[in-house]
Amino acid sequence: MVKARISIDRARCSLCYRCVELCPSKVFIVVNKSVVAVDDRCVACFGCVKVCPSNAIDVKIASYSVVEYVRYN
Ligand code: SF4
Ligand code: SF4
Repeated sequence: MVKARISIDRARCSLCYRCVELCPSKVFIVVNKSVVAVDDRCVACFGCVKVCPSNAIDVKIASYSVVEYVRYN
C-alpha cells in the first residue's frame, strides 16, 4: 500500500475543485465548500499536484510496499 500524506494550503486554494474532478481515487471531498483529503485512498499519481492552478496541494509518500516500489520504479 502507498502511504500518502496530502496537504492542502487553504490560504492558496481558490476552490476551483479541479482536484475533486480529477482524482481517480476520489480522495478529495467537499465539506462546507472546503476541500478535504481522505489520504488512505491515494494511489500517488500526483495528478492533483499538476492540475491545481494555485500550487495548493502537496503529496508526500511515507512508504511503499515492495509491489508498489517495483511498480513505480
Ligand atoms: S485544485 Fe487546488 S485550488 Fe482547486 S480546489 Fe483543489 S486544492 Fe483548491
Ligand atoms: S496523487 Fe493522485 S490519487 Fe493521490 S490525491 Fe492526488 S490525484 Fe488523487
